[in-house]
Amino acid sequence: MQGLMMDFPLTLTHLLRRAETLFPRREIVDRRPDRTFFRYTYAEFIDRAKRLAVALRDLGLARGDRVATLMWNQHEHLEAYFGIPLAGAVLHTLNLRLPPEDLRFIIEHADDRALIVDQTLLPLLEKIGPLPTVRHVFVAGVPADASLPEGLRPYEALLAGADPARFVEPELDERDAAAMCYTSGTTGRPKGVVYSHRALVLHSIVSAMADGLGVRESDAVLPVVPMFHVNAWGLPYTTTLVGAKHVLPGMHLDPASLLEAFQAERVTLTAGVPTIWLGVLQRLDQNPGAYDLSALRALLVGGAAAPAGMIRGFQERHGLTVVHAWGMTETTPLGTIAFLSPETAALPEDARYRLRAKQGRPVPLVEIRARGPEGFVPWNGEAMGELEVRGPWIAAAYHNAPEAADRWTDDGWFRTGDIVTIDPHGYVEIKDRDKDLVKSGGEWISTMALENALMTHPAVLEAAVIAVPHPKWQERPLAVVVLKPGHTPDEAMKAALFDALRPKFARWQLPDDIVFVDQIPRTSTGKFLKRALRERFKHHLDA
Ligand code: ADP
Repeated sequence: MQGLMMDFPLTLTHLLRRAETLFPRREIVDRRPDRTFFRYTYAEFIDRAKRLAVALRDLGLARGDRVATLMWNQHEHLEAYFGIPLAGAVLHTLNLRLPPEDLRFIIEHADDRALIVDQTLLPLLEKIGPLPTVRHVFVAGVPADASLPEGLRPYEALLAGADPARFVEPELDERDAAAMCYTSGTTGRPKGVVYSHRALVLHSIVSAMADGLGVRESDAVLPVVPMFHVNAWGLPYTTTLVGAKHVLPGMHLDPASLLEAFQAERVTLTAGVPTIWLGVLQRLDQNPGAYDLSALRALLVGGAAAPAGMIRGFQERHGLTVVHAWGMTETTPLGTIAFLSPETAALPEDARYRLRAKQGRPVPLVEIRARGPEGFVPWNGEAMGELEVRGPWIAAAYHNAPEAADRWTDDGWFRTGDIVTIDPHGYVEIKDRDKDLVKSGGEWISTMALENALMTHPAVLEAAVIAVPHPKWQERPLAVVVLKPGHTPDEAMKAALFDALRPKFARWQLPDDIVFVDQIPRTSTGKFLKRALRERFKHHLDA
């Protein structure tokens, strides 16, 4: 017997209709390059998203054509998040921190037909060079009558020339592509992940759950995570679904600007990578009581491991709650989130912080397992294996990349490349990425565990541990440390750091050496660029 329910498609058009009818007066704020705050309402946002959809169709873009964006977290980007899929086209967000040659490869590989670029990024566009597939380029952030170099048109002129009353909802299948994003290529050539409408809608619903990111209508949400990478963790869609206020930071992502925006706009929820929050914590520590953050109910952290010391520092010194989550471009991205369950909430304080520093339990509709050299590992919190996931917003393939088919198991689970343990309560802890793990004489050493321990030391600002070739053990760990201002990088400091590590690790797990540097190189998304460190220190342990 079949169920007798409507076959109601899960598409972004529902989000648009919902926002239009229920939240027209809700505010959207973004920070312009000159640091002023621009503000308008959902009603104006939807009017402009519809204009964009109408204009793109008038340009002759066909269903499924890719339209790229090269923008910050700004209101025009939000318009593109809806206007492009609602033209039946596919939003393709470009990571503005990638090298120009990677961007050229990605634009051509995706066969992008049109591009919307923020005026501050025109120099980058020029560096990318000629783009044979792209027929139309629109520049956001300049007036409709701005005069621009040949081949470029103001985005405002495009919108002004379109009548929102001519907007007709596209006939979409919920499995149609709505958006795409390339992985940043930390582990090889960038690969295109294509999000369906259905995946984005389901992801938004589960993200909004109280035990997900917990987004609700009364929130003011500031994504520091870029809209050009992993859909800013889906927050533009989740925030719109629930009708919360959007606060978009534009290009101003330094700790002072962020804190200013949290205070000025009474931000309740924000999300970013650990390096962002480490900087914010440092600024708060240096200026205690300088900011009114009483509205801020949670800082979401993910994209790289959140050190327990940082979670604790925010909580104990500033009364701010950090919530740790894990995800990937391939998982839209929300996969797991670290909340205390009723059972674990009763644990002693230290154990609670340790649990909150894990990556957490899978959100509804995401299933997990981990596979070690001898098969699936038991959920005992000790056995390490590669995390495999499946669910309705997990990629089933990459765009035109048959060579990467081995990222999926024979039974269709996605192989994440993250080496984890899973504890009896289902909390995942990432020990490493498989290529970062130190393989020392047949034993695996987790670089993240060492990094976390180093970063809880009061003198340490940042620490990255890398595998360095070793004549006898094949690889050994080397710790690369940045000290906080006021601390001296000398032998005594090194000895103090080793003393701090010793009680927590077996001897063979300790780094062979600790080196001090001024800064740790970053990937395009703010993670430690360990590849560069491995190259720089590859002879450090030579006999
Ligand atoms: P890239 O593969 O280019 O780094 P992604 O942004 O998709 O691009 O990164 C996903 C990876 O980031 C995960 O596979 C994992 O290694 C890492 N990651 C994401 N969230 C966390 C987290 N909370 N803790 C540790 N690592 C994380």
